[in-house]
Order: sequence, then structure tokens, then C-alpha cells
Amino acid sequence: MSWNFKNWYRQRILENESIPDDLWQKAVARLRFLHGLSPIELKRLRECVILFLHAKQISGAHGLVITSEMHVMIAVQACILILNLDLDYYDGWVEIIVYPGEFIRDYEYADEDGVVHRAREPVSGESWLGGPVILSWEDTAAAEAGAGYNVVIHEFAHKLDMLNGDANGFPPLHANMNQQAWSEAFSKAYAGFCLHVDADAPTAIDPYAAENPAEFFAVMSEAFFEMPLVVKLDFPAVYGQLALFYRQDPAQRWIEP
Ligand SMILES: [Zn+2]
Repeated sequence: MSWNFKNWYRQRILENESIPDDLWQKAVARLRFLHGLSPIELKRLRECVILFLHAKQISGAHGLVITSEMHVMIAVQACILILNLDLDYYDGWVEIIVYPGEFIRDYEYADEDGVVHRAREPVSGESWLGGPVILSWEDTAAAEAGAGYNVVIHEFAHKLDMLNGDANGFPPLHANMNQQAWSEAFSKAYAGFCLHVDADAPTAIDPYAAENPAEFFAVMSEAFFEMPLVVKLDFPAVYGQLALFYRQDPAQRWIEP
């Protein structure tokens, strides 16, 4: 095996930094989607969390103090996406800003006549291309309920999507994946989902996914980890593509509560 600077550097960090056992056990126990992981996967996840916390800076806004418990809760949810990928997938940016609750986003949009308007709306999370991830702590902590809603997974899925430019629901695929298969699976599922939402039909998946293809990918990623059996049953082709992309099969390891 040849000497590798990245591995050597990471090994040095792992030798010098750690997460206290009680903090780790508590975080894992709180998040139902981690319960089916094997001891080997949990060990890898814990190492990923240590490296993630070394590389990223998490700061509170509006006076929010970020405790070690909050650090671990955020990092462990961000790292589940890259458990079988690499920490490199989150390269190129450093900051995570956490608000106590929903925060106001200012944005511009053009109407049908091309007139640009400014608007403000409360949001629970945001990801910037090449910039920070912004989270609401209240929404981050809501993941404990295990109800399929997960703002950290959502925002970090956007980060993966942005590895090849603006978020559009098409992250860079692995060499063993097929662009057309991805495109077909997602566009078909998205079109069907939008019809469903337009008809006001009940759905286990957050209707926000109908917003645009980027949101569809982020919400489907949340559901893939949080309620994999539903995604596998209702959107089997999307499940298959996500399993190839994340290199994980959460439905297979799912433990009913
Ligand atoms: Zn989003």
C-alpha cells in the first residue's frame, strides 16, 4: 500500500481527537435511522463525525450557544449521507450557522412578465453553493421524532447536489451508475408526485418535494434514510438510484421501533 497524505492526516486527527462515549451513545440512540447500522458501520460513522467536526466550524446565531451535544447531533446526521462515500464530498466550504428556530431568508424572483421582486420568508435550513449550511436548531432537533422530517439530511443532500454546480436534483454520479437511469427514475417519479400533490392527495413524503427537482432530490434523500420502506415501496426506481448513489441500503437494515 502506498503512503497517502490524506489518510495519514486523518489518522493523526483520529489519534488526537475523540467524542466521549456517553455523548456518542446518546446521539445514536436519539436517531432511529441509525439503529440498524452494524458495529463496523457505527465505528466508521463515529470516525467520520470526528473528522467532520475537525474540518467544519459550527457557530450559533442570535445568541444560540452550540453545546458539544449539538455539535455531535448535527455532525452525525450530516455524516450518514457520506458514510460510504468520503468526507471529500463536503470539501470547499467550512461554515455551519445554526439559528435557534426558523430564520428569515431574503430572496429575489422574477414573475411571468420578467419583473424581479424581493421577498422574505421563514425557512428551517439553507445551503449555499460554495458557502455555508444554515440550520434551525428547533428543526434539527425535530429529527428525534423520527417522523421522516430531517433538515440536516435535506440541506446536506443539497450540498452533494451542488458538487457539479447549482442544485438541480442531479449530483455527480459514480462510474458504475447510468445518467439516463437516474434521469428517468427521478423525472417520472417527480411528475407523478406533482400530480398527486396538485390533486391534494395525501402523501407520506413531504409535499415540499413538488417545489422543483432539486427539492425533490433533497426530500427523497431525507425519506430514503428516515422512512426507507416507504420510498422503496412507492418509488422503487428512485430508491434504487439513491441506494447506488449513497452506497447504502437503509430498507434492508431497517429495524421497526
Ligand atoms: Zn431544500
